Amino acid sequence: MRIEIDPNAGFCFGVVNAIKTAEENLSKGIEINCLGEIVHNEMENNRLKGIGMKTVKHDQLPELAGRSVLIRAHGEPPSTYELAKKYNINLVDATCPVVLKLQERVRKAWERLQPLGGTVIIFGKKGHAEVIGLCGQTNNQAVVVQDLNDLDGIDFSKPVEIFSQTTKEPEHYREIVEEIKRRVAIYNTQPETLLKVNNTICGQVSNRKPHIKAFAQKHDVMIFVSGTNSSNGKMLFEACLEANPNSHLIVNSAELNPEWLSGYQSVGISGATSTPLWLMQEVASAIEAIVKGKG
Ligand code: SF4
Repeated sequence: MRIEIDPNAGFCFGVVNAIKTAEENLSKGIEINCLGEIVHNEMENNRLKGIGMKTVKHDQLPELAGRSVLIRAHGEPPSTYELAKKYNINLVDATCPVVLKLQERVRKAWERLQPLGGTVIIFGKKGHAEVIGLCGQTNNQAVVVQDLNDLDGIDFSKPVEIFSQTTKEPEHYREIVEEIKRRVAIYNTQPETLLKVNNTICGQVSNRKPHIKAFAQKHDVMIFVSGTNSSNGKMLFEACLEANPNSHLIVNSAELNPEWLSGYQSVGISGATSTPLWLMQEVASAIEAIVKGKG
């Protein structure tokens, strides 16, 4: 049996950087309280917990006065920085540079549009940490659009600027933008004067879907490893299934079913942007053991 780990799978550089920052601080004996899950993968979170990292929630910040709190790759709204200052918290800021830049662009758009009565739209998942951080740049006045229904309350007779959460699907973003163009055109024959579309989906994510489809087609069986909270994982697993109906989603090697492999010649292993390489390697070893066990 040929077993191959997808060369394009694994953490994006924003997550790699946040984990490295946590590990470096912990190795120097500096305590790290991560604000929210550092990555949407329970196995990696457990590994980091094992070396001393704690995960805390926003309402615990007042109890962390004078201590260290890590901001993960998704970033935070300005209100978190204000709270940290108020409680004299030492912030270890691991916000991904791409997200930081996006926050700045959203803030500038809001400064431009607010005096004109315009709207900043964030295409993203309501309640997602990155989206909360982006909305915070507009004093929470941005409209979060998850699907077409969310467009109904927006005044398209005034200027509109749209940004996407970095991990959204490009096709879905295009669909939303096309509908916005249609609605803006009702008020203006030159819609581009009222609408600015910003292409802010991260290349680390948007390339994954075509890559994973090609990879899944190369193999008889696909094993996709992802945490249960990863929306990127759900999207990529669907792409796997489309390309290869013989695809299976697991959280870790304990969920492997030997029957999935029986009678096949090749198996591909891939994962979400939040799936660590060590976990996929563990799955590869478990598959090898199953295959050998069957002799
Ligand atoms: S997906 Fe892109 S923008 Fe988001 S954390 Fe990863 S590298 Fe940064």
